[in-house]
Amino acid sequence: MRDWPPKPSPRYERAVFLDRDGTINVDTHFPYQIESLQFIPMALDGLKLLASLPLHIVVVANQAGIALGLFTQEQMSRFNSELRLRAECGGGRIDGFYFCPHLEAKHLPSEVPSCNCSKPSPGMLVEAARDFQLDLSRCFLIGDKTSDIAAGQAAGCMTILVKTGKAGKEDGALAVEPDYLVENLYEAAVIVHSHVERESLAQASPRFRRDL
Ligand SMILES: [Mg+2]
Ligand SMILES: [Zn+2]
Repeated sequence: MRDWPPKPSPRYERAVFLDRDGTINVDTHFPYQIESLQFIPMALDGLKLLASLPLHIVVVANQAGIALGLFTQEQMSRFNSELRLRAECGGGRIDGFYFCPHLEAKHLPSEVPSCNCSKPSPGMLVEAARDFQLDLSRCFLIGDKTSDIAAGQAAGCMTILVKTGKAGKEDGALAVEPDYLVENLYEAAVIVHSHVERESLAQASPRFRRDL
């Protein structure tokens, strides 16, 4: 489901999908209070670098805390707004927030299927791709859990696992291989930057590409 914006403005056909808790902000176990919003070191620098690139920056977050009754959708929205505001103050940008308010597979009895938006399912990425008219095969996903990576892979994106947050070692971690493994969101942004840069160089100068 989309939390924000009310009406997406498609501009680029590619996006970087970001997990929220443990990737951008410190995962204080179902954070929802603005007072507990704390950026992971270098995360703001990462957002700033991403904001300089020709792509959308879209947050995709499982928010089972809503189904668990830990906080309301309105409280999550306030937290997201504050996150966006602080990202903008730091020179970054966020173009969209998507969330899954349902229980995750680990909260459900094995015979009950989980929804199709909760990562590792790619539902949120697919929804954002529809809203922003994205080519998912040219998108990137950055997250701290193997379920993030699995969602990115299911959508056909390039995937980057960060060693902040759960660092791919969550309970019930999946056997997935991210394309890259890096220290934090800034290092992930550097990889995205170099991919985008290399592509635009190749497009600008076919001869240069042959010489590489
Ligand atoms: Mg996370
Ligand atoms: Zn869901």
